[in-house]
Amino acid sequence: MTKVNPYAAGARGLCPHCGEGYLFDGFLKVAPRCEACGFELGKHETGDGAATFVILIAGAICAFGALFSMFAWNWPVWVSLVVWLPAVVAISLGLMRPAKGLMVAAQIAQKASEAGRDHV
Ligand SMILES: [Zn+2]
Repeated sequence: MTKVNPYAAGARGLCPHCGEGYLFDGFLKVAPRCEACGFELGKHETGDGAATFVILIAGAICAFGALFSMFAWNWPVWVSLVVWLPAVVAISLGLMRPAKGLMVAAQIAQKASEAGRDHV
């Protein structure tokens, strides 16, 4: 088996351990284990980590875009709402899966685990 870049595999929705099986079981639910190599994926949960980055990125793009279009091109408010509200939804949904895959891959690559009593 060749060495897999866990970050690239995770961003593409593939198992960060082998790069062949699927990371997700659904849109954002992490599969319990990899179907190709059997690696336990389910214990790596990112919580709201990916959503935080996606909110910041999509919010910055759309807030800047809305302000720029209103001041530079004199778009009325309703045109900005029609353009930028669907844009923020589309950007958020488009980035969410790769961002969560990256977060899970980072946990696996860095061998992160939940802190227990033996870590204190
Ligand atoms: Zn795998």
